[in-house]
Amino acid sequence: VFNFSAGPAVLPVSVLQEVQDELLCLPGAGASVMELSHRGKVFIEIMEQAEASIRSLLGISDQYAVLFLQGGAALQFSMIPANLLRDSGKSAQYLLTGAWGKKAIGEAKKEGTVDTIYSAAESNFDRVPTSSDYQVKDDAAYLYYCSNETIQGVQFQSEPACPDNVPLISDASSDFLSRPLDIDKYGLIYACAQKNAGPAGVTVVIIRRDLLAKGCDKLPGYLLYRNHAENESMWNTPPTFPIYVLGKVAKWLTNDIGGLAAMESQNREKAKLLYDVIDKHAGFYLGHAQVDCRSTMNATFNLPSEDLLASFVAEASKNGLQNLKGHRSVGGIRASVYNAMPREGAQALASFMDDFAKKNG
Ligand code: PLP
Repeated sequence: VFNFSAGPAVLPVSVLQEVQDELLCLPGAGASVMELSHRGKVFIEIMEQAEASIRSLLGISDQYAVLFLQGGAALQFSMIPANLLRDSGKSAQYLLTGAWGKKAIGEAKKEGTVDTIYSAAESNFDRVPTSSDYQVKDDAAYLYYCSNETIQGVQFQSEPACPDNVPLISDASSDFLSRPLDIDKYGLIYACAQKNAGPAGVTVVIIRRDLLAKGCDKLPGYLLYRNHAENESMWNTPPTFPIYVLGKVAKWLTNDIGGLAAMESQNREKAKLLYDVIDKHAGFYLGHAQVDCRSTMNATFNLPSEDLLASFVAEASKNGLQNLKGHRSVGGIRASVYNAMPREGAQALASFMDDFAKKNG
Protein backbone atom coordinates (compact mmCIF):
# COMPACT_ATOMS: atom_id res chain seq x y z
CA VAL A 1 0.00 0.00 0.00
CA PHE A 2 1.22 3.50 -0.82
CA ASN A 3 -0.05 6.34 1.35
CA PHE A 4 -0.42 9.70 -0.43
CA SER A 5 -1.72 11.54 2.64
CA ALA A 6 -0.91 15.24 2.88
CA GLY A 7 0.03 14.87 6.51
CA PRO A 8 0.64 13.34 8.90
CA ALA A 9 2.40 11.51 6.13
CA VAL A 10 4.68 8.62 5.33
CA LEU A 11 7.94 8.20 7.24
CA PRO A 12 10.99 6.28 5.98
CA VAL A 13 10.47 2.56 6.65
CA SER A 14 13.99 2.17 8.01
CA VAL A 15 13.33 4.94 10.54
CA LEU A 16 10.09 3.31 11.68
CA GLN A 17 11.89 0.00 12.04
CA GLU A 18 14.61 1.55 14.19
CA VAL A 19 11.99 3.25 16.33
CA GLN A 20 10.20 -0.06 16.74
CA ASP A 21 13.41 -1.84 17.72
CA GLU A 22 14.19 0.79 20.34
CA LEU A 23 10.68 1.50 21.57
CA LEU A 24 10.68 -0.52 24.78
CA CYS A 25 14.26 0.09 25.71
CA LEU A 26 16.60 2.62 24.14
CA PRO A 27 20.06 1.02 24.02
CA GLY A 28 22.18 2.40 26.85
CA ALA A 29 19.24 4.16 28.51
CA GLY A 30 17.43 1.28 30.23
CA ALA A 31 14.06 2.81 29.39
CA SER A 32 11.90 3.88 26.48
CA VAL A 33 12.82 7.26 25.02
CA MET A 34 9.32 8.37 26.11
CA GLU A 35 10.23 7.63 29.72
CA LEU A 36 13.42 9.67 29.82
CA SER A 37 13.75 13.01 31.57
CA HIS A 38 14.13 15.79 29.03
CA ARG A 39 16.91 17.18 31.21
CA GLY A 40 18.83 13.91 31.45
CA LYS A 41 22.08 13.32 29.60
CA VAL A 42 20.62 10.77 27.16
CA PHE A 43 17.77 12.94 25.92
CA ILE A 44 19.89 16.09 25.77
CA GLU A 45 22.25 14.22 23.47
CA ILE A 46 19.32 13.12 21.28
CA MET A 47 18.10 16.68 20.96
CA GLU A 48 21.59 18.08 20.31
CA GLN A 49 22.11 15.45 17.65
CA ALA A 50 18.79 16.30 15.98
CA GLU A 51 19.70 19.99 15.95
CA ALA A 52 23.21 19.30 14.66
CA SER A 53 21.85 17.17 11.79
CA ILE A 54 19.36 19.85 10.76
CA ARG A 55 22.05 22.53 10.95
CA SER A 56 24.35 20.46 8.82
CA LEU A 57 21.70 19.51 6.23
CA LEU A 58 20.61 23.13 5.74
CA GLY A 59 23.98 24.80 6.42
CA ILE A 60 22.58 26.88 9.30
CA SER A 61 25.11 29.24 10.88
CA ASP A 62 25.40 30.26 14.55
CA GLN A 63 23.61 33.49 13.68
CA TYR A 64 20.42 31.44 13.87
CA ALA A 65 18.73 29.64 16.73
CA VAL A 66 17.00 26.34 15.97
CA LEU A 67 13.98 25.81 18.22
CA PHE A 68 11.79 22.76 18.77
CA LEU A 69 8.33 23.99 19.70
CA GLN A 70 4.78 22.73 20.10
CA GLY A 71 1.47 24.15 18.93
CA GLY A 72 1.94 23.01 15.35
CA ALA A 73 2.62 25.32 12.46
CA ALA A 74 -0.61 27.10 13.34
CA LEU A 75 0.81 28.59 16.55
CA GLN A 76 3.47 30.27 14.40
CA PHE A 77 0.70 32.14 12.59
CA SER A 78 0.27 33.98 15.91
CA MET A 79 3.76 33.85 17.44
CA ILE A 80 5.35 35.57 14.46
CA PRO A 81 3.18 38.69 14.55
CA ALA A 82 3.03 38.64 18.38
CA ASN A 83 6.84 38.91 18.51
CA LEU A 84 7.62 40.90 15.39
CA LEU A 85 4.55 43.02 14.60
CA ARG A 86 2.70 43.89 17.81
CA ASP A 87 3.58 47.42 19.02
CA SER A 88 6.20 47.78 16.26
CA GLY A 89 4.43 50.73 14.60
CA LYS A 90 5.09 48.93 11.31
CA SER A 91 3.02 46.83 8.96
CA ALA A 92 3.57 43.19 8.06
CA GLN A 93 3.46 42.28 4.38
CA TYR A 94 1.96 39.00 3.24
CA LEU A 95 2.04 37.18 -0.10
CA LEU A 96 -1.19 35.20 -0.31
CA THR A 97 -0.98 32.07 -2.45
CA GLY A 98 -3.31 29.62 -0.73
CA ALA A 99 -5.28 28.41 2.26
CA TRP A 100 -2.45 28.39 4.81
CA GLY A 101 -1.37 31.91 3.97
CA LYS A 102 -4.97 33.01 4.38
CA LYS A 103 -5.14 31.51 7.85
CA ALA A 104 -1.83 33.11 8.79
CA ILE A 105 -3.10 36.52 7.66
CA GLY A 106 -6.25 36.10 9.75
CA GLU A 107 -4.17 35.50 12.88
CA ALA A 108 -1.67 38.28 12.11
CA LYS A 109 -4.50 40.82 11.83
CA LYS A 110 -5.22 40.25 15.51
CA GLU A 111 -1.72 41.57 16.30
CA GLY A 112 -1.35 44.62 14.09
CA THR A 113 -1.45 46.12 10.62
CA VAL A 114 -1.25 43.60 7.82
CA ASP A 115 -0.94 44.36 4.10
CA THR A 116 -1.71 41.57 1.68
CA ILE A 117 0.58 42.91 -1.04
CA TYR A 118 -0.13 40.04 -3.43
CA SER A 119 -3.09 37.69 -3.69
CA ALA A 120 -3.67 34.84 -6.12
CA ALA A 121 -7.31 34.53 -4.97
CA GLU A 122 -8.68 35.76 -8.31
CA SER A 123 -7.14 32.84 -10.17
CA ASN A 124 -8.21 30.41 -7.43
CA PHE A 125 -4.69 30.13 -6.01
CA ASP A 126 -3.07 28.49 -9.00
CA ARG A 127 0.17 30.50 -8.96
CA VAL A 128 2.86 32.34 -7.00
CA PRO A 129 4.00 35.88 -7.79
CA THR A 130 7.09 37.08 -9.64
CA SER A 131 8.97 40.03 -8.19
CA SER A 132 7.15 42.48 -10.48
CA ASP A 133 3.76 41.43 -9.05
CA TYR A 134 4.25 43.07 -5.66
CA GLN A 135 6.11 45.78 -3.82
CA VAL A 136 7.41 45.44 -0.26
CA LYS A 137 7.49 48.52 1.97
CA ASP A 138 11.08 49.32 2.91
CA ASP A 139 10.19 49.68 6.57
CA ALA A 140 7.91 46.62 6.82
CA ALA A 141 8.04 44.53 10.00
CA TYR A 142 8.58 41.49 7.75
CA LEU A 143 7.61 39.83 4.47
CA TYR A 144 5.73 36.55 4.95
CA TYR A 145 4.98 33.78 2.46
CA CYS A 146 4.16 30.08 2.43
CA SER A 147 6.74 28.27 0.29
CA ASN A 148 4.43 25.37 -0.56
CA GLU A 149 0.66 25.68 -0.27
CA THR A 150 -0.22 22.12 0.66
CA ILE A 151 -3.91 22.31 -0.22
CA GLN A 152 -3.61 23.99 -3.62
CA GLY A 153 -0.29 22.38 -4.59
CA VAL A 154 1.54 25.56 -5.59
CA GLN A 155 5.17 26.12 -4.64
CA PHE A 156 7.68 28.94 -4.85
CA GLN A 157 10.62 27.69 -6.91
CA SER A 158 12.93 30.10 -5.05
CA GLU A 159 12.64 32.78 -2.37
CA PRO A 160 10.53 35.81 -3.28
CA ALA A 161 12.41 39.09 -3.73
CA CYS A 162 12.62 41.00 -0.44
CA PRO A 163 14.50 44.18 0.55
CA ASP A 164 17.68 43.42 2.55
CA ASN A 165 16.49 45.21 5.68
CA VAL A 166 13.11 43.44 5.82
CA PRO A 167 13.12 40.01 7.51
CA LEU A 168 11.85 37.33 5.16
CA ILE A 169 9.61 34.76 6.86
CA SER A 170 8.52 31.45 5.40
CA ASP A 171 6.02 28.80 6.37
CA ALA A 172 7.93 25.82 4.97
CA SER A 173 5.72 23.25 6.68
CA SER A 174 5.13 21.12 3.63
CA ASP A 175 8.47 21.36 1.83
CA PHE A 176 10.92 21.56 4.73
CA LEU A 177 14.00 19.35 4.19
CA SER A 178 12.79 18.51 0.67
CA ARG A 179 15.44 20.68 -1.01
CA PRO A 180 18.47 22.82 -0.11
CA LEU A 181 17.77 26.36 1.09
CA ASP A 182 19.87 29.47 1.56
CA ILE A 183 18.96 30.08 5.20
CA ASP A 184 20.89 33.38 5.23
CA LYS A 185 18.08 34.89 3.15
CA TYR A 186 15.60 34.39 6.00
CA GLY A 187 14.74 36.15 9.21
CA LEU A 188 12.65 33.17 10.28
CA ILE A 189 11.59 29.92 8.69
CA TYR A 190 9.41 27.30 10.31
CA ALA A 191 7.81 23.94 9.66
CA CYS A 192 5.64 21.47 11.47
CA ALA A 193 7.23 18.03 11.28
CA GLN A 194 4.39 15.85 10.07
CA LYS A 195 5.01 16.06 6.30
CA ASN A 196 8.71 15.51 5.69
CA ALA A 197 10.45 15.59 9.02
CA GLY A 198 8.77 13.35 11.59
CA PRO A 199 5.60 12.79 13.58
CA ALA A 200 3.11 15.53 14.45
CA GLY A 201 3.93 17.29 17.71
CA VAL A 202 7.10 19.24 17.02
CA THR A 203 7.54 22.42 14.99
CA VAL A 204 11.02 23.52 13.96
CA VAL A 205 11.63 27.28 14.04
CA ILE A 206 14.87 28.69 12.65
CA ILE A 207 15.18 32.30 13.73
CA ARG A 208 17.94 34.89 13.18
CA ARG A 209 19.23 35.77 16.62
CA ASP A 210 18.82 39.55 16.28
CA LEU A 211 15.04 39.02 16.01
CA LEU A 212 14.96 37.38 19.44
CA ALA A 213 15.22 40.81 21.06
CA LYS A 214 11.93 41.97 19.57
CA GLY A 215 9.11 40.30 21.51
CA CYS A 216 7.60 42.13 24.46
CA ASP A 217 7.95 40.55 27.94
CA LYS A 218 4.22 41.00 28.53
CA LEU A 219 3.49 38.21 26.04
CA PRO A 220 2.57 34.84 27.54
CA GLY A 221 5.93 33.21 28.20
CA TYR A 222 5.46 30.34 25.80
CA LEU A 223 4.88 32.78 22.94
CA LEU A 224 8.20 34.61 23.34
CA TYR A 225 10.84 33.21 21.01
CA ARG A 226 13.68 34.37 23.22
CA ASN A 227 12.45 32.28 26.15
CA HIS A 228 12.86 29.17 24.00
CA ALA A 229 16.21 30.29 22.56
CA GLU A 230 17.66 31.21 25.96
CA ASN A 231 16.58 27.85 27.37
CA GLU A 232 17.59 25.71 24.40
CA SER A 233 13.99 24.66 23.72
CA MET A 234 13.58 23.61 27.36
CA TRP A 235 11.59 26.57 28.63
CA ASN A 236 9.01 23.87 29.19
CA THR A 237 9.06 20.12 28.48
CA PRO A 238 9.75 19.72 24.77
CA PRO A 239 7.96 17.04 22.71
CA THR A 240 10.62 14.44 23.34
CA PHE A 241 9.37 11.54 21.22
CA PRO A 242 8.75 13.61 18.03
CA ILE A 243 12.20 15.21 18.45
CA TYR A 244 13.78 11.76 18.75
CA VAL A 245 12.11 10.61 15.50
CA LEU A 246 12.96 13.91 13.79
CA GLY A 247 16.61 13.27 14.62
CA LYS A 248 16.40 9.86 12.99
CA VAL A 249 14.77 11.29 9.87
CA ALA A 250 17.52 13.91 9.61
CA LYS A 251 20.13 11.17 9.94
CA TRP A 252 18.37 9.15 7.23
CA LEU A 253 18.45 12.19 4.94
CA THR A 254 22.17 12.59 5.58
CA ASN A 255 23.36 8.99 5.50
CA ASP A 256 20.87 7.11 3.32
CA ILE A 257 19.79 9.81 0.88
CA GLY A 258 23.02 11.80 0.72
CA GLY A 259 21.74 15.25 1.68
CA LEU A 260 19.15 17.71 0.47
CA ALA A 261 20.40 18.15 -3.11
CA ALA A 262 20.03 14.40 -3.63
CA MET A 263 16.62 14.48 -1.92
CA GLU A 264 15.51 17.31 -4.19
CA SER A 265 16.47 15.43 -7.30
CA GLN A 266 14.53 12.34 -6.15
CA ASN A 267 11.54 14.54 -5.32
CA ARG A 268 11.65 16.21 -8.73
CA GLU A 269 11.73 12.83 -10.42
CA LYS A 270 8.72 11.56 -8.46
CA ALA A 271 6.68 14.69 -9.14
CA LYS A 272 7.59 14.58 -12.83
CA LEU A 273 6.14 11.07 -13.12
CA LEU A 274 2.77 12.45 -12.00
CA TYR A 275 2.81 15.72 -13.93
CA ASP A 276 3.84 13.94 -17.12
CA VAL A 277 0.66 11.81 -16.99
CA ILE A 278 -1.45 14.88 -16.22
CA ASP A 279 0.04 16.61 -19.28
CA LYS A 280 -0.28 13.50 -21.43
CA HIS A 281 -4.02 13.35 -20.68
CA ALA A 282 -4.61 17.11 -20.48
CA GLY A 283 -8.36 17.69 -20.72
CA PHE A 284 -9.07 14.53 -18.78
CA TYR A 285 -6.78 15.39 -15.90
CA LEU A 286 -7.20 19.04 -15.06
CA GLY A 287 -4.02 20.16 -13.28
CA HIS A 288 -4.66 22.93 -10.77
CA ALA A 289 -1.33 24.78 -10.57
CA GLN A 290 0.21 26.78 -13.41
CA VAL A 291 3.05 24.69 -14.82
CA ASP A 292 5.89 26.84 -13.44
CA CYS A 293 4.32 26.91 -9.95
CA ARG A 294 3.70 23.19 -9.58
CA SER A 295 4.56 21.69 -6.24
CA THR A 296 7.04 18.82 -6.03
CA MET A 297 5.28 17.74 -2.83
CA ASN A 298 1.53 17.87 -3.55
CA ALA A 299 0.21 17.29 -7.07
CA THR A 300 -3.36 18.59 -7.32
CA PHE A 301 -5.73 17.93 -10.19
CA ASN A 302 -9.36 17.33 -10.98
CA LEU A 303 -11.32 15.01 -13.24
CA PRO A 304 -14.13 15.88 -15.67
CA SER A 305 -16.98 14.82 -13.34
CA GLU A 306 -17.76 13.99 -9.72
CA ASP A 307 -18.59 10.42 -10.78
CA LEU A 308 -15.17 9.94 -12.37
CA LEU A 309 -13.55 11.50 -9.35
CA ALA A 310 -15.32 9.06 -7.02
CA SER A 311 -14.42 6.04 -9.14
CA PHE A 312 -10.80 7.24 -9.44
CA VAL A 313 -10.48 7.36 -5.65
CA ALA A 314 -12.26 4.01 -5.15
CA GLU A 315 -10.27 2.14 -7.83
CA ALA A 316 -6.98 3.67 -6.73
CA SER A 317 -7.66 2.53 -3.19
CA LYS A 318 -8.40 -1.01 -4.40
CA ASN A 319 -5.00 -0.89 -6.09
CA GLY A 320 -3.27 0.06 -2.84
CA LEU A 321 -3.01 3.78 -3.66
CA GLN A 322 -4.54 5.51 -0.67
CA ASN A 323 -5.57 8.91 0.64
CA LEU A 324 -5.78 10.62 -2.73
CA LYS A 325 -8.89 12.68 -2.10
CA GLY A 326 -8.22 16.43 -2.26
CA HIS A 327 -8.70 18.67 0.76
CA ARG A 328 -12.39 19.04 1.65
CA SER A 329 -12.23 22.78 0.86
CA VAL A 330 -11.14 22.38 -2.78
CA GLY A 331 -12.10 18.83 -3.82
CA GLY A 332 -10.38 17.02 -6.69
CA ILE A 333 -7.35 14.81 -6.16
CA ARG A 334 -4.22 15.55 -4.18
CA ALA A 335 -1.28 13.20 -4.36
CA SER A 336 1.35 14.01 -1.78
CA VAL A 337 4.78 12.64 -2.59
CA TYR A 338 6.92 13.79 0.30
CA ASN A 339 10.51 12.74 0.96
CA ALA A 340 9.64 9.28 2.27
CA MET A 341 7.39 8.29 -0.65
CA PRO A 342 9.48 5.83 -2.64
CA ARG A 343 9.83 6.28 -6.39
CA GLU A 344 7.86 3.03 -6.83
CA GLY A 345 4.85 4.68 -5.15
CA ALA A 346 4.86 7.62 -7.57
CA GLN A 347 5.44 5.20 -10.45
CA ALA A 348 2.51 3.00 -9.36
CA LEU A 349 0.20 6.03 -9.19
CA ALA A 350 1.39 7.35 -12.57
CA SER A 351 0.71 3.96 -14.20
CA PHE A 352 -2.72 3.78 -12.57
CA MET A 353 -3.54 7.30 -13.79
CA ASP A 354 -2.46 6.44 -17.32
CA ASP A 355 -4.65 3.30 -17.37
CA PHE A 356 -7.60 5.10 -15.79
CA ALA A 357 -7.48 7.89 -18.39
CA LYS A 358 -7.25 5.36 -21.25
CA LYS A 359 -10.27 3.47 -19.93
CA ASN A 360 -12.42 6.47 -19.06
CA GLY A 361 -11.14 9.34 -21.19
N1 PLP B 1 1.11 25.44 7.03
C1 PLP B 1 1.11 24.53 6.05
C2 PLP B 1 1.77 24.85 4.76
C3 PLP B 1 0.49 23.30 6.25
O1 PLP B 1 0.48 22.38 5.27
C4 PLP B 1 -0.13 23.03 7.49
C5 PLP B 1 -0.79 21.74 7.76
O2 PLP B 1 -1.12 20.96 6.90
C6 PLP B 1 -0.10 24.00 8.48
C7 PLP B 1 0.54 25.20 8.21
C8 PLP B 1 -0.75 23.78 9.82
O3 PLP B 1 -0.01 22.87 10.54
P1 PLP B 1 -0.46 22.38 11.99
O4 PLP B 1 -1.66 21.54 11.80
O5 PLP B 1 0.74 21.63 12.50
O6 PLP B 1 -0.76 23.58 12.82
